[in-house]
Amino acid sequence: RLMRVAIIGRPNVGKSSLFNRLIGRQHALVYNKPGVTRDCLFEKAEYGGFTFEVVDTAGLDDGVDMQEDEAEMRKAGPQMKASGIGRWPAHLLTEALENTSLVVKSSDLVLFMVDQRVGLTPLDWQFARWLAMKNKPTLLISNKADGNVSPLDENLANISVTGMKDVKKLGLGEPLHISATQNEGMSELIMHMAPII
Ligand code: GDP
Ligand code: MG
Repeated sequence: RLMRVAIIGRPNVGKSSLFNRLIGRQHALVYNKPGVTRDCLFEKAEYGGFTFEVVDTAGLDDGVDMQEDEAEMRKAGPQMKASGIGRWPAHLLTEALENTSLVVKSSDLVLFMVDQRVGLTPLDWQFARWLAMKNKPTLLISNKADGNVSPLDENLANISVTGMKDVKKLGLGEPLHISATQNEGMSELIMHMAPII
């Protein structure tokens, strides 16, 4: 069977953009509003000489819908933001992660994506801690590094400001810098995926 690669991360980090790039067409809806992907999408990808299955996950995106539920909003309190960036109450996070959990279990590799323009958010930390306990081979993808993907690039210092300085403490290894929309850092990514796929 094909190796299965799941792309996970909080809403709006660029999961669907990477998914579309890997499958070579616009299947998943990309939108500048969190919560657009409704269900998990499974597709065969042929990329960089490899054939594998890629999954665009929506567990947390579904969770964002829950935030529109007024009762839940009241229960959760003001710290929960519609952007999906705020910290989620444990009971809601658990629910939102159930779907994602099944996908992670059945995957051979997880691409955990963060958005380096926004920096690490409380939800990223919650999600990363949850993922680290799954003991799945994981690559940490730092997306939206437009024009700054090369670790040799002296500008890298600039993109790693504020919000990203603790990225290694996520417990998911060194970040790989990519730009899903600008098509940068992709061969480096495939190189790191190669031993597993
Ligand atoms: P998802 O919610 O994680 O699936 O994120 P999407 O793929 O839908 O992307 C969310 C937003 O981020 C969209 O407006 C994308 O165009 C934008 N985006 C995704 N990847 C990149 C990137 O590498 N660079 C920039 N500048 N924007 C990106
Ligand atoms: Mg999406």
